[in-house]
Amino acid sequence: MRPFTYTRATSTNAATQSYGASNAAEADTSGNLVQGRFPAEYIAGGTTLLDLMKLDVMQPARVVDITGLDQSHSAIEVTQAGLKLGALVKMSAAADHPAIIKAYPVLAQSLTLAASAQLRNMATLGGNVLQRTRCNYFRDPSWTACNKRNPGSGCAALQGVNRQNAILGTSPDCIATYHGDFAQALIALDATVDIVGPKGNRTIAFSALHREPGSTPNVETTLAPGDLITSLSVPAGPWTRRSLYLKIRDRQSYEYALASAAVALDLDQGVVRHARIALGGVATVPWRAKDAEAALIGKPLDENAATNAARIAFAGAAPREHNAYKVALGQKTVVRALLQAATLEG
Ligand code: SF4
Repeated sequence: MRPFTYTRATSTNAATQSYGASNAAEADTSGNLVQGRFPAEYIAGGTTLLDLMKLDVMQPARVVDITGLDQSHSAIEVTQAGLKLGALVKMSAAADHPAIIKAYPVLAQSLTLAASAQLRNMATLGGNVLQRTRCNYFRDPSWTACNKRNPGSGCAALQGVNRQNAILGTSPDCIATYHGDFAQALIALDATVDIVGPKGNRTIAFSALHREPGSTPNVETTLAPGDLITSLSVPAGPWTRRSLYLKIRDRQSYEYALASAAVALDLDQGVVRHARIALGGVATVPWRAKDAEAALIGKPLDENAATNAARIAFAGAAPREHNAYKVALGQKTVVRALLQAATLEG
């Protein structure tokens, strides 16, 4: 691990200012930061950042500790309008919250299945949605070719071992999977993200947070340098109770998804009024399958309808040598998730 400056912030203002102090040193002659290269990083649970610093994949000059921000950032608010989750809420606190388990089971399940108990007790929701890929070539700097870690260097996964890599949202420059689970539940439920930053406060759709790799896989989100996620909001809806997260993986504990589905249904006597489907383990970003959702509207939710929706969800898949199995596995995961969700109480 390389030397770095540690700062502890007790307010969002102090945090963004502290972050900005490092940015100024890294700006080009026009005052612009090199895209995707942040000289400072915020740290809360540290479950992603510390790993990647030890591996020498991330080398921030400054680490700004935000665990001292006021209690509002660790609060869970449940109202008739929906949920508001502070960015510093621990994964375990949200996963074990009775109102979330009851009214938003897909959120609770995605968090419970995401990590070990130790990690859930440490990791925060804000950090969780910003976790970085587990692509082996990204996490091992002895591989030079990784456009995400080393822009312009190539992509070792394209011709390498790509069993874990993505089949949706890929580009000729990167096929890294977004491995989070909670994000699939958030995108399925139309969550929003509150952000503070050097240029003020704003709220964006969760679906606008992550960027597909395109030609700049090193730029993973739409956050500007110094932006800090302060909370995540999930609107209430008639589909949130009848929702679930199904995760398929090599082993049933402490493993990332090979394919997963976050689904939520609003049914009228078995006929679909609204459907929400998000896919995990198969795409470069949290992936909403809107065409598949549309195909279900007005149909009885039976195996035929679910199979058709699953086929549509993967119509744009671009499998490679070792991950072609994800098309069939992903489709089966969607079918099973939809049929299971249909049996739940709405
Ligand atoms: Fe790097 Fe992306 Fe290629 Fe993995 S898939 S080696 S993260 S460029």
